[in-house]
Amino acid sequence: MHNLSDPIISINGLGPKAQEKLNNIGIYNLEHLLFHLPLRYQNKTKFTSLDDAQVGTEILVQLTIDRLEEVATRQRQLLCYLSDENNRTLLLRFFHFNQYHKQQLVRGDIIQCFGEVKIGRDGLEIHHPEYRLISKGQSNLLETTLSPVYPLTGNIHQAQLKKWINTALETLKKTSLSDNFENLAKNSMPSLKQALETLHHPKEGENLDQIAEFRHISQQRLIIEELCAHQLSLLKLKHERKSKISNIFKISKSLPKQLSKNIGFELTGAQQRCIDEINLDLSSCHPMLRLLQGDVGSGKTIVAVFACLQAVENGFQAAVMAPTEILASQHLHGFSNYFEPLGIEVAFLTGSQNTAERAQQLNAIQSGKAQVVIGTHALFQESVEFNQLGLVVIDEQHKFGVHQRLSLAQKAHNTPHQLVMTATPIPRSLTMSAYADLDSSIIDELPPGRTPVKTIALSNERKDEVVEKIKQVCKDSNQVYWVCTLIEESEVLRAESATNTHQYLQESLPTLIVVLIHGRMNKDEKSEIMKKFSKGEIDVLVATTVIEVGVNVPNASLMVIENSERLGLAQLHQLRGRVGRGADASICILMYQTPLSANATERLDILRQTNDGFKIANKDLKLRGPGEILGTQQTGIANMKIANIVRDGYLLKQVRFYSEQFLKLDEGKQYALIMRWVSDDKTQYANT
Ligand code: ADP
Ligand code: MG
Repeated sequence: MHNLSDPIISINGLGPKAQEKLNNIGIYNLEHLLFHLPLRYQNKTKFTSLDDAQVGTEILVQLTIDRLEEVATRQRQLLCYLSDENNRTLLLRFFHFNQYHKQQLVRGDIIQCFGEVKIGRDGLEIHHPEYRLISKGQSNLLETTLSPVYPLTGNIHQAQLKKWINTALETLKKTSLSDNFENLAKNSMPSLKQALETLHHPKEGENLDQIAEFRHISQQRLIIEELCAHQLSLLKLKHERKSKISNIFKISKSLPKQLSKNIGFELTGAQQRCIDEINLDLSSCHPMLRLLQGDVGSGKTIVAVFACLQAVENGFQAAVMAPTEILASQHLHGFSNYFEPLGIEVAFLTGSQNTAERAQQLNAIQSGKAQVVIGTHALFQESVEFNQLGLVVIDEQHKFGVHQRLSLAQKAHNTPHQLVMTATPIPRSLTMSAYADLDSSIIDELPPGRTPVKTIALSNERKDEVVEKIKQVCKDSNQVYWVCTLIEESEVLRAESATNTHQYLQESLPTLIVVLIHGRMNKDEKSEIMKKFSKGEIDVLVATTVIEVGVNVPNASLMVIENSERLGLAQLHQLRGRVGRGADASICILMYQTPLSANATERLDILRQTNDGFKIANKDLKLRGPGEILGTQQTGIANMKIANIVRDGYLLKQVRFYSEQFLKLDEGKQYALIMRWVSDDKTQYANT
């Protein structure tokens, strides 16, 4: 007699090798086996008559063996002809077989088979069926409930896994599962025990279509519970953070006032609101962790600059981390423009600096001479020591993992305040499920005077027209980006394709200055080119996707994206966001190679229809799923046991309702829920 808390190794026939495999997917005890839910089901609850057999479906039949034949075509095959009492026939075809099979299948014997029906030259066939020889006294294939098909791991067989899970289900019958959700749901949903039993072995008559669509009440119940658990675990993280102590910034008005005079534009209402929300956090004694969302071009940078000023006024350092060198050096220029007039010292740190440069910067950072530090990942390497780090700003956060974020935060004596910026607006359902531990501010208003970018899709054959358009744009002394998006594993090939395009454009546009930039150039070269482009000394910039994020040259008004069908929505939206930053009407031309897949057509259509990053993000979520959007390091929500936030978005209201109910229960009950659903992995990062 087992207990649900017994380790799986206590199950008969489950050895150390299988134990290891199952441990790898988070299954340590019998209870964990219960939550390893079927992918789908097979129906072996009744025999199907050959008259009713539908090609492409799985059927169970009981027939008589007529004869056996071995044929040698290209591949040796064993054919076993069966028939029923009305002489309707079925052929079993085996591609792998041995002597034993041949001896077993005896003419005149009764056989039961289960498998998918195919149509062959002479009628119905099943290949490699599961079968039992009834005349030889083998057990019946007929079952009383639907048979689950489990996701497999390692080389564990379906039959083994089924047996082990059944052991757990037997144990469940005799015990009870503590289940706090049950009390909250007050009988409006099945109990955990009932739900698990139903999903492992749905009785005949259960609505299988509903189950296939994950809309069965037993599934809904588990989905809501799992999402609740995730949300609760994030809320705990938030709570933990709010119990930590950070530096209180006294909100100052003097530097911000001076800055406001220098920037040359009025902040939008949305920017001001975000600055206020941030200031409120900074002036509290608990560490800020705030997500600043805003569409491309909405003006996030200046909001971050205001936050940095508060750190500086309070005698702390601010670190600004960007995902690429280009973006980091652009921030260096952008921030320096604002800071220099105010007498604020800025340091710069990237991976490609030489030893002397680096030493000098490290020194300034350690001594505290540098008040604002801008850089790439290089900022959180071990050798970097800050004097008084008080604020961390992370730009384009989707490029960084949770761990990278944390390691920068650890460089401070007190937990620093953190501002996380993202240009990819995040759908609400994702924010709720993946970022519930962060507070969030949204810039939902673009600076005035912007004309929306007009987006056109053109096939590659119309390159000539694009070249004409470039001439026109440059005649009006605007500038052009031409992005080459060849998706190659190697930077070498990418650079090569960009080089070819560069040559083509130089030849087609002899009077214009066409310059190439790609990831294989060294950083001085790259920043030199970007500087020239910013100053308007380059007409057409041919680039690989290195310019994807953040680059800001308002005079550029045409963006051409080659092979746009190969890029994801978020990336295309980012690229397009490089234009439309000035007052001039801008155009984005999406060039594509025919024929377009249905999915690619849909992506390009969406971009043509809207400039709204939130709408695009929602579509993207549907097309790609949360895992792709957030990146795997970001969150565990991509590998949940049963829930899927895209498919199950309609349940979020209930999730919120029950999460609130859970928060009213005692801590032990809350942790019990989290432990049951949220994998070890994630509870660990709660402690980092
Ligand atoms: P993003 O949100 O994409 O990071 P940026 O911060 O780079 O956007 O801002 C885009 C451009 O808009 C910059 O040229 C910036 O100077 C300008 N800008 C920002 N805020 C305003 C504003 N309130 N009014 C006018 N221009 C603004
Ligand atoms: Mg930006």
